[in-house]
Amino acid sequence: MPRKKNSGPCSVQNCSLQVSRFRQITLLAYRKAQNNGSFKFYPYLKIGEQLCHIHYLSIVETDRYQKSKTQEPKSYSFIEQVSMLTKVLYMQRGNIELDPIHFQQMIVESDSRL
Ligand SMILES: [Zn+2]
Repeated sequence: MPRKKNSGPCSVQNCSLQVSRFRQITLLAYRKAQNNGSFKFYPYLKIGEQLCHIHYLSIVETDRYQKSKTQEPKSYSFIEQVSMLTKVLYMQRGNIELDPIHFQQMIVESDSRL
């Protein structure tokens, strides 16, 4: 029976996250974590060990993690988005951009949740 690849457990101490995806700490991942400062908090991690997906993102892929965090609030319902949009349009009335790109910028600047 071949050993299942990247099946955990997570090498972070006391990790209790219920995650089914694991990533191996490669040399590249190790260097990234050193460069972004995450290793100060997890100095015991070694190349070849595994991290759950959440810890991998928060330790190794901090850039991507932060980016995906800021993009996350897109998960508003249509009704919520419309009500936010309506508020923005109301506040911006008389100053409405008709160019679609400027329009989008105006909306996003006014309310980053949109
Ligand atoms: Zn973990």
